[in-house]
Amino acid sequence: MIRKSQNLREIPSVDKILRQLGEIDLPRPALVALIRRELAKIRREKNPRDVIAKIQSAIENLRRDRIQTIINGTGIIIHTNFGRSPLGEKVVEAIATAASNYTNLEYDLNGGERGVRANYLEHNLAVLCGAEAGTIVNNCAAALVLILRHFVSKRPRREVVISRGELVQIGGGFRIPEILQSSGAILREVGTTNKTTLEDYRNALNEKTAMILHVHRSNFFMKGFVESPNIQQLATIADKAKVPLIADLGSGAVFDTSTFAGEKEPTPAETLKHGASLVCFSGDKLLGGPQTGIIAGRADHVAALKKDPFFRALRCDKIVLSAMQTTVDLHLAGEENQIASLAMARIPLAKLKDRAEQILIAFSGLPLSAKIGAGKSQIGGGSLPRTEIPSITIELRATKIRPNDLSARLRAATPPIIGYVADDAVKIDLRTVFPHQDAMLISAIKSIA
Ligand SMILES: *Cc1c(COP(=O)(O)O)cnc(C)c1O
Repeated sequence: MIRKSQNLREIPSVDKILRQLGEIDLPRPALVALIRRELAKIRREKNPRDVIAKIQSAIENLRRDRIQTIINGTGIIIHTNFGRSPLGEKVVEAIATAASNYTNLEYDLNGGERGVRANYLEHNLAVLCGAEAGTIVNNCAAALVLILRHFVSKRPRREVVISRGELVQIGGGFRIPEILQSSGAILREVGTTNKTTLEDYRNALNEKTAMILHVHRSNFFMKGFVESPNIQQLATIADKAKVPLIADLGSGAVFDTSTFAGEKEPTPAETLKHGASLVCFSGDKLLGGPQTGIIAGRADHVAALKKDPFFRALRCDKIVLSAMQTTVDLHLAGEENQIASLAMARIPLAKLKDRAEQILIAFSGLPLSAKIGAGKSQIGGGSLPRTEIPSITIELRATKIRPNDLSARLRAATPPIIGYVADDAVKIDLRTVFPHQDAMLISAIKSIA
Protein backbone atom coordinates (compact mmCIF):
# COMPACT_ATOMS: atom_id res chain seq x y z
CA MET A 1 0.00 0.00 0.00
CA ILE A 2 2.86 2.35 0.81
CA ARG A 3 4.37 1.83 -2.60
CA LYS A 4 1.10 2.58 -4.23
CA SER A 5 0.80 5.95 -2.52
CA GLN A 6 4.34 6.80 -3.51
CA ASN A 7 3.44 6.07 -7.10
CA LEU A 8 0.38 8.21 -6.81
CA ARG A 9 2.56 11.19 -6.12
CA GLU A 10 4.36 10.70 -9.41
CA ILE A 11 1.16 10.50 -11.45
CA PRO A 12 -0.09 13.87 -12.64
CA SER A 13 -3.67 14.98 -12.16
CA VAL A 14 -6.28 14.89 -14.92
CA ASP A 15 -6.14 18.68 -15.17
CA LYS A 16 -2.41 18.72 -15.49
CA ILE A 17 -2.53 16.06 -18.19
CA LEU A 18 -5.20 17.99 -20.08
CA ARG A 19 -2.99 21.07 -20.02
CA GLN A 20 0.01 19.09 -21.19
CA LEU A 21 -1.90 17.48 -24.04
CA GLY A 22 -2.99 20.80 -25.50
CA GLU A 23 -5.67 20.94 -28.17
CA ILE A 24 -7.27 17.54 -28.82
CA ASP A 25 -10.16 17.13 -31.27
CA LEU A 26 -12.32 14.99 -29.01
CA PRO A 27 -15.32 16.13 -26.97
CA ARG A 28 -13.92 17.12 -23.56
CA PRO A 29 -16.08 14.75 -21.45
CA ALA A 30 -14.98 11.84 -23.66
CA LEU A 31 -11.36 12.89 -23.27
CA VAL A 32 -11.62 13.27 -19.49
CA ALA A 33 -13.25 9.84 -19.16
CA LEU A 34 -10.49 8.29 -21.25
CA ILE A 35 -7.75 9.93 -19.19
CA ARG A 36 -9.36 8.72 -15.94
CA ARG A 37 -9.61 5.19 -17.28
CA GLU A 38 -5.98 5.20 -18.39
CA LEU A 39 -4.82 6.68 -15.10
CA ALA A 40 -6.63 3.94 -13.19
CA LYS A 41 -4.78 1.38 -15.29
CA ILE A 42 -1.45 3.13 -14.81
CA ARG A 43 -1.93 3.28 -11.03
CA ARG A 44 -2.19 -0.50 -10.96
CA GLU A 45 1.21 -0.81 -12.61
CA LYS A 46 4.18 -1.64 -10.37
CA ASN A 47 6.35 1.05 -11.81
CA PRO A 48 4.30 3.65 -13.64
CA ARG A 49 6.20 5.36 -16.44
CA ASP A 50 5.58 7.29 -19.64
CA VAL A 51 2.22 8.44 -18.39
CA ILE A 52 1.70 11.08 -21.05
CA ALA A 53 2.86 8.82 -23.85
CA LYS A 54 0.49 6.07 -22.75
CA ILE A 55 -2.42 8.46 -22.60
CA GLN A 56 -1.57 9.91 -25.98
CA SER A 57 -1.55 6.48 -27.51
CA ALA A 58 -4.92 5.66 -25.89
CA ILE A 59 -6.34 8.89 -27.33
CA GLU A 60 -4.95 8.00 -30.73
CA ASN A 61 -6.53 4.54 -30.55
CA LEU A 62 -9.91 5.94 -29.57
CA ARG A 63 -9.75 8.56 -32.29
CA ARG A 64 -8.98 5.91 -34.87
CA ASP A 65 -12.08 3.98 -33.82
CA ARG A 66 -14.27 6.82 -34.96
CA ILE A 67 -16.19 5.76 -38.09
CA GLN A 68 -14.32 7.41 -40.93
CA THR A 69 -13.59 7.11 -44.62
CA ILE A 70 -10.93 4.60 -45.56
CA ILE A 71 -9.44 3.77 -48.92
CA ASN A 72 -10.30 0.18 -49.74
CA GLY A 73 -7.38 -1.27 -51.65
CA THR A 74 -8.29 -4.88 -50.92
CA GLY A 75 -10.23 -5.42 -54.12
CA ILE A 76 -13.09 -6.86 -52.09
CA ILE A 77 -16.11 -4.92 -53.28
CA ILE A 78 -18.73 -5.78 -50.66
CA HIS A 79 -16.35 -5.83 -47.70
CA THR A 80 -18.26 -6.64 -44.53
CA ASN A 81 -15.61 -4.98 -42.33
CA PHE A 82 -15.78 -1.83 -44.44
CA GLY A 83 -19.55 -1.35 -44.33
CA ARG A 84 -20.45 -3.57 -47.29
CA SER A 85 -21.94 -1.77 -50.30
CA PRO A 86 -21.01 1.87 -50.74
CA LEU A 87 -24.02 3.79 -52.04
CA GLY A 88 -24.22 5.72 -55.28
CA GLU A 89 -25.09 9.34 -55.83
CA LYS A 90 -28.84 8.93 -56.35
CA VAL A 91 -29.22 6.87 -53.19
CA VAL A 92 -27.14 9.30 -51.18
CA GLU A 93 -29.32 12.18 -52.42
CA ALA A 94 -32.41 10.30 -51.27
CA ILE A 95 -30.84 9.79 -47.85
CA ALA A 96 -29.93 13.45 -47.47
CA THR A 97 -33.42 14.58 -48.46
CA ALA A 98 -35.21 12.16 -46.16
CA ALA A 99 -32.85 12.89 -43.28
CA SER A 100 -33.21 16.65 -43.38
CA ASN A 101 -36.95 16.92 -44.00
CA TYR A 102 -40.26 15.71 -42.64
CA THR A 103 -41.59 12.86 -44.75
CA ASN A 104 -44.85 10.95 -45.21
CA LEU A 105 -43.16 7.96 -43.56
CA GLU A 106 -46.36 6.88 -41.82
CA TYR A 107 -48.85 9.29 -43.25
CA ASP A 108 -51.43 8.57 -45.93
CA LEU A 109 -51.49 11.60 -48.21
CA ASN A 110 -54.73 10.45 -49.84
CA GLY A 111 -56.79 10.12 -46.71
CA GLY A 112 -54.91 12.72 -44.67
CA GLU A 113 -54.42 10.36 -41.78
CA ARG A 114 -51.99 7.88 -40.30
CA GLY A 115 -50.69 5.56 -43.00
CA VAL A 116 -48.57 2.48 -43.45
CA ARG A 117 -44.77 2.63 -43.36
CA ALA A 118 -42.96 1.70 -46.57
CA ASN A 119 -46.08 0.95 -48.65
CA TYR A 120 -44.48 2.05 -51.92
CA LEU A 121 -41.21 0.27 -51.19
CA GLU A 122 -42.97 -2.97 -50.27
CA HIS A 123 -44.98 -2.87 -53.46
CA ASN A 124 -41.89 -2.40 -55.63
CA LEU A 125 -39.84 -4.90 -53.63
CA ALA A 126 -42.48 -7.53 -54.31
CA VAL A 127 -42.30 -6.74 -58.03
CA LEU A 128 -38.49 -6.97 -57.98
CA CYS A 129 -38.67 -10.33 -56.21
CA GLY A 130 -41.50 -11.71 -58.33
CA ALA A 131 -43.38 -12.15 -55.06
CA GLU A 132 -46.95 -11.66 -53.85
CA ALA A 133 -45.62 -9.46 -51.07
CA GLY A 134 -42.44 -8.23 -49.49
CA THR A 135 -41.22 -6.35 -46.47
CA ILE A 136 -38.04 -5.09 -44.92
CA VAL A 137 -36.25 -5.26 -41.56
CA ASN A 138 -32.84 -4.29 -40.18
CA ASN A 139 -30.75 -7.07 -41.69
CA CYS A 140 -31.01 -10.62 -42.94
CA ALA A 141 -30.22 -12.04 -39.50
CA ALA A 142 -33.21 -10.12 -38.14
CA ALA A 143 -35.35 -11.37 -41.02
CA LEU A 144 -34.42 -14.94 -40.22
CA VAL A 145 -35.05 -14.55 -36.49
CA LEU A 146 -38.44 -12.95 -37.16
CA ILE A 147 -39.44 -15.79 -39.49
CA LEU A 148 -38.20 -18.49 -37.12
CA ARG A 149 -39.81 -17.00 -34.03
CA HIS A 150 -43.07 -16.56 -35.85
CA PHE A 151 -43.36 -20.06 -37.24
CA VAL A 152 -42.04 -21.95 -34.23
CA SER A 153 -44.42 -20.16 -31.89
CA LYS A 154 -47.25 -22.34 -33.15
CA ARG A 155 -46.88 -25.14 -30.64
CA PRO A 156 -46.43 -28.04 -30.92
CA ARG A 157 -44.80 -27.17 -34.25
CA ARG A 158 -41.31 -26.17 -33.18
CA GLU A 159 -39.01 -28.31 -35.25
CA VAL A 160 -37.03 -26.73 -38.04
CA VAL A 161 -35.80 -29.26 -40.54
CA ILE A 162 -32.42 -28.33 -42.01
CA SER A 163 -29.63 -30.18 -43.79
CA ARG A 164 -26.37 -30.74 -41.92
CA GLY A 165 -24.68 -29.31 -44.99
CA GLU A 166 -26.34 -25.95 -44.28
CA LEU A 167 -25.56 -25.53 -40.58
CA VAL A 168 -23.08 -22.86 -41.51
CA GLN A 169 -21.40 -19.85 -40.06
CA ILE A 170 -22.07 -16.75 -42.13
CA GLY A 171 -19.87 -14.12 -40.55
CA GLY A 172 -18.62 -13.12 -37.13
CA GLY A 173 -20.99 -14.50 -34.53
CA PHE A 174 -23.66 -15.62 -36.97
CA ARG A 175 -24.12 -19.37 -36.85
CA ILE A 176 -27.29 -20.83 -38.26
CA PRO A 177 -27.74 -23.45 -35.49
CA GLU A 178 -27.31 -20.81 -32.78
CA ILE A 179 -29.78 -18.44 -34.46
CA LEU A 180 -32.25 -21.29 -34.68
CA GLN A 181 -31.92 -22.24 -31.05
CA SER A 182 -32.08 -18.68 -29.80
CA SER A 183 -35.32 -18.26 -31.72
CA GLY A 184 -36.90 -21.12 -29.80
CA ALA A 185 -36.66 -23.60 -32.63
CA ILE A 186 -35.80 -27.22 -32.15
CA LEU A 187 -33.13 -28.17 -34.61
CA ARG A 188 -34.01 -31.19 -36.70
CA GLU A 189 -30.80 -31.89 -38.60
CA VAL A 190 -31.00 -34.20 -41.57
CA GLY A 191 -28.45 -35.80 -43.89
CA THR A 192 -24.71 -35.34 -43.67
CA THR A 193 -22.28 -32.52 -44.40
CA ASN A 194 -21.93 -33.41 -48.05
CA LYS A 195 -25.01 -35.46 -48.85
CA THR A 196 -28.63 -34.91 -47.95
CA THR A 197 -31.40 -36.64 -49.87
CA LEU A 198 -35.04 -35.82 -50.29
CA GLU A 199 -35.73 -39.01 -48.35
CA ASP A 200 -33.78 -37.59 -45.38
CA TYR A 201 -36.06 -34.56 -45.35
CA ARG A 202 -39.20 -36.64 -45.83
CA ASN A 203 -38.34 -38.90 -42.92
CA ALA A 204 -37.89 -35.92 -40.61
CA LEU A 205 -41.29 -34.39 -41.28
CA ASN A 206 -43.89 -34.98 -38.57
CA GLU A 207 -46.67 -33.23 -36.69
CA LYS A 208 -44.08 -31.12 -34.82
CA THR A 209 -42.46 -29.72 -37.94
CA ALA A 210 -42.66 -25.92 -38.13
CA MET A 211 -40.81 -25.47 -41.42
CA ILE A 212 -38.15 -26.67 -43.78
CA LEU A 213 -35.29 -24.20 -43.83
CA HIS A 214 -32.96 -23.99 -46.77
CA VAL A 215 -29.82 -21.90 -46.27
CA HIS A 216 -27.82 -20.86 -49.30
CA ARG A 217 -24.14 -21.73 -48.95
CA SER A 218 -23.18 -18.21 -49.76
CA ASN A 219 -19.62 -17.85 -48.56
CA PHE A 220 -18.21 -21.23 -49.56
CA PHE A 221 -18.85 -24.02 -52.01
CA MET A 222 -18.61 -27.77 -51.93
CA LYS A 223 -17.32 -29.83 -54.78
CA GLY A 224 -17.04 -33.56 -55.30
CA PHE A 225 -19.23 -36.17 -53.61
CA VAL A 226 -22.05 -33.72 -52.94
CA GLU A 227 -25.81 -33.97 -53.20
CA SER A 228 -28.82 -32.08 -51.97
CA PRO A 229 -32.37 -31.74 -53.22
CA ASN A 230 -33.29 -28.58 -55.11
CA ILE A 231 -35.96 -26.07 -54.12
CA GLN A 232 -38.61 -27.65 -56.36
CA GLN A 233 -38.15 -31.04 -54.73
CA LEU A 234 -38.22 -29.55 -51.24
CA ALA A 235 -41.32 -27.53 -52.12
CA THR A 236 -43.15 -30.68 -53.18
CA ILE A 237 -42.70 -32.40 -49.84
CA ALA A 238 -43.24 -29.17 -47.85
CA ASP A 239 -46.55 -28.65 -49.66
CA LYS A 240 -47.62 -32.20 -48.97
CA ALA A 241 -46.80 -31.85 -45.28
CA LYS A 242 -48.41 -28.38 -45.23
CA VAL A 243 -45.34 -26.71 -43.78
CA PRO A 244 -43.66 -23.59 -45.16
CA LEU A 245 -40.40 -23.84 -47.06
CA ILE A 246 -38.16 -20.92 -46.12
CA ALA A 247 -35.06 -20.07 -48.16
CA ASP A 248 -32.32 -17.90 -46.69
CA LEU A 249 -30.59 -16.67 -49.85
CA GLY A 250 -28.05 -14.48 -48.09
CA SER A 251 -26.74 -12.30 -50.86
CA GLY A 252 -29.98 -11.85 -52.78
CA ALA A 253 -28.95 -11.21 -56.35
CA VAL A 254 -32.03 -9.94 -58.16
CA PHE A 255 -30.33 -10.21 -61.55
CA ASP A 256 -28.45 -12.97 -63.31
CA THR A 257 -24.96 -12.78 -61.80
CA SER A 258 -23.50 -14.95 -64.53
CA THR A 259 -23.51 -11.82 -66.71
CA PHE A 260 -20.48 -10.55 -64.80
CA ALA A 261 -19.41 -13.43 -62.60
CA GLY A 262 -18.53 -16.98 -63.41
CA GLU A 263 -21.28 -18.37 -61.23
CA LYS A 264 -24.96 -17.91 -60.67
CA GLU A 265 -26.60 -16.93 -57.41
CA PRO A 266 -30.19 -18.08 -56.96
CA THR A 267 -32.51 -15.09 -57.41
CA PRO A 268 -35.49 -14.47 -55.08
CA ALA A 269 -37.87 -14.61 -58.07
CA GLU A 270 -36.75 -18.03 -59.26
CA THR A 271 -36.58 -19.45 -55.73
CA LEU A 272 -40.17 -18.34 -55.12
CA LYS A 273 -41.25 -19.60 -58.52
CA HIS A 274 -39.74 -22.97 -57.66
CA GLY A 275 -42.01 -23.15 -54.66
CA ALA A 276 -40.38 -21.51 -51.61
CA SER A 277 -42.99 -19.93 -49.35
CA LEU A 278 -40.67 -17.11 -48.30
CA VAL A 279 -37.16 -15.97 -49.08
CA CYS A 280 -34.95 -13.66 -47.06
CA PHE A 281 -31.71 -11.94 -48.01
CA SER A 282 -29.48 -8.98 -47.17
CA GLY A 283 -30.13 -5.61 -48.75
CA ASP A 284 -26.48 -4.57 -48.65
CA LYS A 285 -24.90 -7.47 -50.50
CA LEU A 286 -25.69 -8.02 -54.17
CA LEU A 287 -28.70 -5.72 -54.08
CA GLY A 288 -26.19 -2.97 -53.34
CA GLY A 289 -28.37 -1.00 -50.92
CA PRO A 290 -28.13 -0.03 -47.25
CA GLN A 291 -27.98 -2.58 -44.42
CA THR A 292 -31.40 -4.26 -44.43
CA GLY A 293 -33.02 -7.66 -44.53
CA ILE A 294 -35.61 -8.36 -47.20
CA ILE A 295 -38.43 -10.86 -46.81
CA ALA A 296 -40.52 -11.76 -49.85
CA GLY A 297 -43.02 -14.43 -50.77
CA ARG A 298 -46.56 -15.48 -49.90
CA ALA A 299 -48.82 -12.56 -49.01
CA ASP A 300 -50.43 -14.32 -46.04
CA HIS A 301 -47.05 -15.13 -44.50
CA VAL A 302 -45.69 -11.61 -45.03
CA ALA A 303 -48.86 -10.10 -43.53
CA ALA A 304 -48.59 -12.41 -40.52
CA LEU A 305 -44.94 -11.51 -39.98
CA LYS A 306 -45.77 -7.82 -40.08
CA LYS A 307 -48.43 -8.37 -37.42
CA ASP A 308 -45.98 -10.13 -35.13
CA PRO A 309 -45.13 -7.79 -32.22
CA PHE A 310 -41.47 -8.59 -32.74
CA PHE A 311 -41.59 -6.99 -36.20
CA ARG A 312 -41.86 -3.61 -34.50
CA ALA A 313 -38.45 -4.12 -32.91
CA LEU A 314 -36.84 -4.74 -36.28
CA ARG A 315 -38.31 -1.98 -38.38
CA CYS A 316 -36.11 0.40 -40.38
CA ASP A 317 -36.05 4.17 -40.12
CA LYS A 318 -36.88 6.71 -42.82
CA ILE A 319 -33.26 7.12 -43.87
CA VAL A 320 -32.73 3.45 -44.60
CA LEU A 321 -36.17 3.09 -46.15
CA SER A 322 -35.66 5.94 -48.56
CA ALA A 323 -32.21 4.62 -49.50
CA MET A 324 -33.74 1.23 -50.19
CA GLN A 325 -36.65 2.75 -52.07
CA THR A 326 -34.22 4.39 -54.48
CA THR A 327 -32.07 1.25 -54.74
CA VAL A 328 -35.06 -0.94 -55.61
CA ASP A 329 -36.32 1.59 -58.16
CA LEU A 330 -32.90 1.72 -59.83
CA HIS A 331 -33.00 -2.07 -60.20
CA LEU A 332 -36.54 -1.96 -61.57
CA ALA A 333 -35.57 0.75 -64.05
CA GLY A 334 -32.64 -1.34 -65.23
CA GLU A 335 -30.19 1.28 -63.99
CA GLU A 336 -27.82 -1.09 -62.27
CA ASN A 337 -24.94 1.12 -63.32
CA GLN A 338 -26.18 3.59 -60.68
CA ILE A 339 -25.70 0.99 -57.95
CA ALA A 340 -22.17 1.82 -56.81
CA SER A 341 -20.99 -1.66 -55.84
CA LEU A 342 -22.33 -3.30 -59.00
CA ALA A 343 -20.84 -0.56 -61.17
CA MET A 344 -17.49 -1.17 -59.47
CA ALA A 345 -17.57 -4.84 -60.41
CA ARG A 346 -17.97 -3.82 -64.04
CA ILE A 347 -15.25 -1.17 -64.43
CA PRO A 348 -13.26 -2.17 -67.53
CA LEU A 349 -9.67 -3.20 -66.95
CA ALA A 350 -8.40 -0.55 -69.39
CA LYS A 351 -9.83 2.23 -67.21
CA LEU A 352 -8.06 0.87 -64.14
CA LYS A 353 -4.84 0.63 -66.09
CA ASP A 354 -5.08 4.28 -67.18
CA ARG A 355 -5.50 5.36 -63.59
CA ALA A 356 -2.62 3.17 -62.45
CA GLU A 357 -0.35 4.80 -65.03
CA GLN A 358 -1.34 8.27 -63.84
CA ILE A 359 -0.64 7.28 -60.25
CA LEU A 360 2.79 5.90 -61.11
CA ILE A 361 3.75 9.13 -62.86
CA ALA A 362 3.07 10.94 -59.59
CA PHE A 363 5.39 8.55 -57.76
CA SER A 364 8.45 9.04 -59.94
CA GLY A 365 11.48 9.92 -57.89
CA LEU A 366 10.14 8.47 -54.62
CA PRO A 367 12.41 6.17 -52.60
CA LEU A 368 9.77 3.51 -53.01
CA SER A 369 9.30 1.04 -55.81
CA ALA A 370 5.83 1.29 -57.33
CA LYS A 371 4.73 -0.99 -60.13
CA ILE A 372 1.54 -1.88 -61.91
CA GLY A 373 0.42 -5.43 -61.21
CA ALA A 374 -2.43 -7.76 -62.03
CA GLY A 375 -5.00 -8.30 -59.30
CA LYS A 376 -8.08 -10.36 -58.70
CA SER A 377 -11.00 -8.49 -57.18
CA GLN A 378 -13.72 -10.34 -55.35
CA ILE A 379 -17.36 -9.57 -54.79
CA GLY A 380 -17.13 -10.33 -51.07
CA GLY A 381 -19.86 -10.09 -48.46
CA GLY A 382 -20.07 -13.86 -48.56
CA SER A 383 -21.37 -13.89 -52.11
CA LEU A 384 -20.08 -15.47 -55.30
CA PRO A 385 -17.10 -17.08 -53.52
CA ARG A 386 -15.72 -18.55 -56.74
CA THR A 387 -15.76 -15.32 -58.71
CA GLU A 388 -12.56 -13.42 -59.35
CA ILE A 389 -12.69 -10.25 -61.40
CA PRO A 390 -9.42 -9.37 -63.16
CA SER A 391 -8.10 -6.11 -61.80
CA ILE A 392 -5.12 -3.76 -61.65
CA THR A 393 -2.99 -3.18 -58.57
CA ILE A 394 -0.32 -0.75 -57.51
CA GLU A 395 2.49 -2.81 -55.98
CA LEU A 396 4.54 -0.99 -53.41
CA ARG A 397 7.92 -2.18 -52.19
CA ALA A 398 10.39 -0.35 -49.97
CA THR A 399 13.97 -1.48 -49.54
CA LYS A 400 14.21 -0.78 -45.81
CA ILE A 401 10.66 -1.45 -44.71
CA ARG A 402 9.07 -4.87 -44.56
CA PRO A 403 5.71 -5.19 -46.38
CA ASN A 404 3.82 -5.68 -43.12
CA ASP A 405 5.32 -2.50 -41.67
CA LEU A 406 4.61 -0.59 -44.86
CA SER A 407 1.08 -1.89 -44.67
CA ALA A 408 0.78 -0.57 -41.09
CA ARG A 409 2.05 2.85 -42.18
CA LEU A 410 -0.54 2.98 -44.94
CA ARG A 411 -3.21 2.13 -42.37
CA ALA A 412 -1.98 5.01 -40.25
CA ALA A 413 -2.27 7.49 -43.13
CA THR A 414 -5.10 10.00 -43.46
CA PRO A 415 -7.35 8.66 -44.82
CA PRO A 416 -6.22 5.15 -43.88
CA ILE A 417 -5.30 2.99 -46.86
CA ILE A 418 -5.96 -0.73 -46.55
CA GLY A 419 -4.19 -2.91 -49.06
CA TYR A 420 -2.97 -6.49 -48.83
CA VAL A 421 0.45 -8.09 -48.65
CA ALA A 422 1.49 -10.56 -51.35
CA ASP A 423 4.73 -11.34 -53.22
CA ASP A 424 6.75 -9.23 -50.76
CA ALA A 425 4.76 -6.14 -51.67
CA VAL A 426 1.83 -4.15 -50.43
CA LYS A 427 -0.76 -4.22 -53.19
CA ILE A 428 -3.56 -1.76 -53.69
CA ASP A 429 -6.34 -2.97 -55.94
CA LEU A 430 -7.66 0.02 -57.86
CA ARG A 431 -11.07 -1.47 -58.57
CA THR A 432 -12.23 -0.71 -55.05
CA VAL A 433 -10.52 2.69 -54.86
CA PHE A 434 -12.88 5.41 -56.06
CA PRO A 435 -11.30 7.52 -58.83
CA HIS A 436 -11.79 10.64 -56.69
CA GLN A 437 -9.57 8.99 -54.06
CA ASP A 438 -6.57 8.64 -56.40
CA ALA A 439 -5.25 12.05 -55.39
CA MET A 440 -5.57 11.18 -51.68
CA LEU A 441 -3.85 7.87 -52.32
CA ILE A 442 -0.99 9.62 -54.04
CA SER A 443 -0.48 12.24 -51.35
CA ALA A 444 -0.74 9.69 -48.52
CA ILE A 445 1.85 7.40 -50.11
CA LYS A 446 4.13 10.34 -50.88
CA SER A 447 4.05 11.47 -47.29
CA ILE A 448 4.96 7.98 -46.09
CA ALA A 449 7.80 7.71 -48.62
C1 LIG B 1 -24.95 -12.68 -45.07
C2 LIG B 1 -25.92 -13.75 -44.77
C3 LIG B 1 -26.78 -13.63 -43.67
C4 LIG B 1 -26.71 -12.46 -42.72
O1 LIG B 1 -27.12 -11.30 -43.32
P1 LIG B 1 -27.01 -9.89 -42.55
O2 LIG B 1 -27.74 -8.96 -43.46
O3 LIG B 1 -25.57 -9.60 -42.43
O4 LIG B 1 -27.67 -10.03 -41.25
C5 LIG B 1 -27.67 -14.65 -43.45
N1 LIG B 1 -27.71 -15.74 -44.24
C6 LIG B 1 -26.90 -15.89 -45.30
C7 LIG B 1 -27.00 -17.13 -46.12
C8 LIG B 1 -25.97 -14.90 -45.60
O5 LIG B 1 -25.16 -15.04 -46.66
